[in-house]
Amino acid sequence: MSAPFSVEIQRAHFIDGEYVAGDATFDIFCPVDQAPLGAMATGDEEHVDAAVSAATRAFPAWAALGAEGRLPYLKRFAEEIGKRADALAIAEANDAGVLLARMQHGIVPRAMLNITWFAEAALTLRDRVIQTPQATHHIRHDPAGVCAIITPWNSPLMLTTWKAGPALASGNTIVIKPPEWAPLSCALLAEAAAAAGLPPGVFNMVHGPGATTGAALVADPRLARISFTGSAATARLIAGVAAHNLVPCSLELGGKSPFIVLADADLDQAAATGALMYRNASQVCLAGTRFLVHADIRDAFVEKMRSVVDKLVIGDPRDPATEVGPIIHPRQFERVKSYVERAIVGGATVLWGGEAHPFGPLYFQPTMLTDVANDAEIVQEEVFGPVLVLQTFGDDAEAIALANSTRYGLGGVCFGETVHATSVAEQVRTGFIWVNSFGIRDLAAPFGGRGQSGIGREGGDWSFDFFCDVKDVMVPAKPFVPSFAHR
Ligand code: NAD
Repeated sequence: MSAPFSVEIQRAHFIDGEYVAGDATFDIFCPVDQAPLGAMATGDEEHVDAAVSAATRAFPAWAALGAEGRLPYLKRFAEEIGKRADALAIAEANDAGVLLARMQHGIVPRAMLNITWFAEAALTLRDRVIQTPQATHHIRHDPAGVCAIITPWNSPLMLTTWKAGPALASGNTIVIKPPEWAPLSCALLAEAAAAAGLPPGVFNMVHGPGATTGAALVADPRLARISFTGSAATARLIAGVAAHNLVPCSLELGGKSPFIVLADADLDQAAATGALMYRNASQVCLAGTRFLVHADIRDAFVEKMRSVVDKLVIGDPRDPATEVGPIIHPRQFERVKSYVERAIVGGATVLWGGEAHPFGPLYFQPTMLTDVANDAEIVQEEVFGPVLVLQTFGDDAEAIALANSTRYGLGGVCFGETVHATSVAEQVRTGFIWVNSFGIRDLAAPFGGRGQSGIGREGGDWSFDFFCDVKDVMVPAKPFVPSFAHR
């Protein structure tokens, strides 16, 4: 069954091509059984200063290499990630509780692709020429400079490479602050960067808590960009600092996405996909957590989904048979439990689940609540645990109105006859929505949310737009005549 944790990982910061330890450390634990996973270095202001200084020094030469010059480095980086595939999978299964099988088959290959895809895409950045009667405009995408990358614990490797890939490929240098509850896969990523021979200072990592290490990083006035994924509460703090320093930031935040089941949906497909919302114990920003089901098929859908959920294998994420693992941390577990308790006190009916699961102290049963008012906390707020709500609607207009009735606007799912479902999906106010499917993530496509779900888009050209400064170099079409009357 579960493998004991035996991966050797550097626990120090990675600054200017060197491992840098410090006196202070913080401990990390496995969410399955609270087994200690060792101590990580805690970064202070000096570590952050050293990392940003190194990235500042390394920037001109890395930028000057051009996309072609950077390509071999980044290909080697991806290869080094691949060489550590097992270690990465074990690390994240242990500290974040992500399924080992999902790490091996989904996330590690995707992390490699996050590096190589953007490295190759950068070769054809949308530099172009605009010719007008007055001038030739050479439109360039210049790398912005030193970029801070801050990611959450629910999918650290995927989210960190999703940012590091385009940032590095377009010529920026980076300082990463990994999530303190699950820093191990990021620490291995630094080892991969070192083994790939990325020039010193191009890739830096400082570990530590958000409130101290993270706050010190985002406050550094030398940053050119801040790329953040996490909660809206933290995003507000970061955006405030970024506003003061006039640093552009990209904010990928939480969601309360609708999962719409129209009357003409394939209910078996919808129910099987609905159960996927419990993946990673629903600690997934893009999960559809508000089920909006047509009243005519509500009972049939509930029965079908219940029968799928009843068979879910809840257990140790390191066991290949497991489908749903633990909640990451006691604090998060208490948060999830208290949301459910308040919802029940408020009149919610439990369709299934509703309580802690006996597998371990941080396990909660996959839960579905119904009979909830639309303005109830459990309908309006992101729980970030295996707790879904189900409401019914009578027609498309009501489904769309309910779908659009939270402050969030990240994603969505819509099951129904394809033309019908597509038409409904188009009217849902989110950054993306899957029709009769879930979880398709193409690197070329934009990803991000509206409202409280974030500002900005990542993926393809949208990532490059964020990590680059667009510049227009103008050469006049005719000899220029200096004149005060000239506009
Ligand atoms: P969080 O905001 O608490 O922490 C995210 C990161 O920010 C961590 O690395 C943390 O150390 C750091 N941080 C905290 N305070 C900081 C500060 N003052 N300055 C700088 N950095 C700071 O979020 P979390 O609880 O780790 O993650 C869960 C949240 O992330 C959920 O809301 C989830 O929906 C969201 N999320 C969004 C996406 C997306 O792509 N939209 C993806 C995954 C998770």
